[in-house]
Amino acid sequence: MEKRMNILTGTIKIREEYIIGKVIKNDNAENKKDYIQVLSKDNMDKPEIGYKAYVLECDSCNSNLDNYCLGVKDIDSLSNYDVIEIIKDLNIRVLYRDDSNDNYILVTNQCNSNCIMCPDADSVRNTKDIPSINVILDHIRAIPNDTSHITITGGEPGLLKDDLIKIFAECKKYLPNTEFLLLSNGRIFSNTEFVDKFKSVVPKYTRVGIPLYADEPELHDSITRADNSFKQAVCGIKKLLNRGIDVEIRIVVQKLNYKILDKIARFICNEIPTITMVNIMSLEMCGNAIINKNQIWVDYEDIKEPVYKACLELIKHGIIVNLYNFPLCALDERVYAFAVKSISDYKVRYREECSGCTLKKECGGLFNSTINLKEARIKPVK
Ligand code: SF4
Repeated sequence: MEKRMNILTGTIKIREEYIIGKVIKNDNAENKKDYIQVLSKDNMDKPEIGYKAYVLECDSCNSNLDNYCLGVKDIDSLSNYDVIEIIKDLNIRVLYRDDSNDNYILVTNQCNSNCIMCPDADSVRNTKDIPSINVILDHIRAIPNDTSHITITGGEPGLLKDDLIKIFAECKKYLPNTEFLLLSNGRIFSNTEFVDKFKSVVPKYTRVGIPLYADEPELHDSITRADNSFKQAVCGIKKLLNRGIDVEIRIVVQKLNYKILDKIARFICNEIPTITMVNIMSLEMCGNAIINKNQIWVDYEDIKEPVYKACLELIKHGIIVNLYNFPLCALDERVYAFAVKSISDYKVRYREECSGCTLKKECGGLFNSTINLKEARIKPVK
């Protein structure tokens, strides 16, 4: 398999502003090895011979047959049933990889919080790169309906308000058996009218991942840098759970909260007793996180005991705990069993010294953004 590319270039000869569809490869292409023909739903039976790939437009599109991409570089990096967006006069973006479990739909880059350790920087928020609702809906319609998992993420997806309801209604219609993870700061769900609308469209296998950084408003709001965000997030979590919608709480471990992880765990057990899953997470050191490194980074050695104690507290209450993004040597060995290899395959890195570590096979490694951070001290186990 060639290296997987996210953007493919070539001569894009389409009449519409964009076309979204599924890729069908032709391994026997002869004369048009770097050509793509777009087939609208009225012309599915008219592929011209010789093309390397055909794109079957999503349900709502119905363009003219004369849509082609010529001289497409890296065309071999596409697979059958990948979903691509062909953008007029520009390029081809890969929206969905059929052979990946890490597929996501980014619905906005805007956010109403501005977390001190966000892996996006403020500059990302200022670009207003917001995909149109029509592109998002076409993206959903083109995804094969046997896909097992899709993450809906931002920025803060809740900012889309009624458009987020439309997105989930479409997910329910086209992907009824897919598991969805919605990553949100949870604040929108404190609005009863919104959470009721969400409940009315939410696909069966949906979980909402919401972060809690503290057991009280002052510290949480100082980390999100958004007033009232703690109160709204806790209220949102309770309203979702009361309506039978699955929620996982996410705690990101950092200098500002590592000493009170057990208190946060106790708060969750006492105040949100119906929660079934808590994921404790290590930092991804890019964007705001790297800008604010001195305020947030804490040595792996210092977090071992607090993470262990928080796990213990949660497990005692029957809550499932996962540890995301931690290299194994950053954890107390009594909690190795909860560590998940959660870093996306294209972001995972290991240091040179990892090659001699007996835990390497089980270890999820470090983020590409953390690998060169000298403060991230790892300890190979011999
Ligand atoms: S030394 Fe490397 S492989 Fe071993 S546990 Fe640490 S990060 Fe993982």
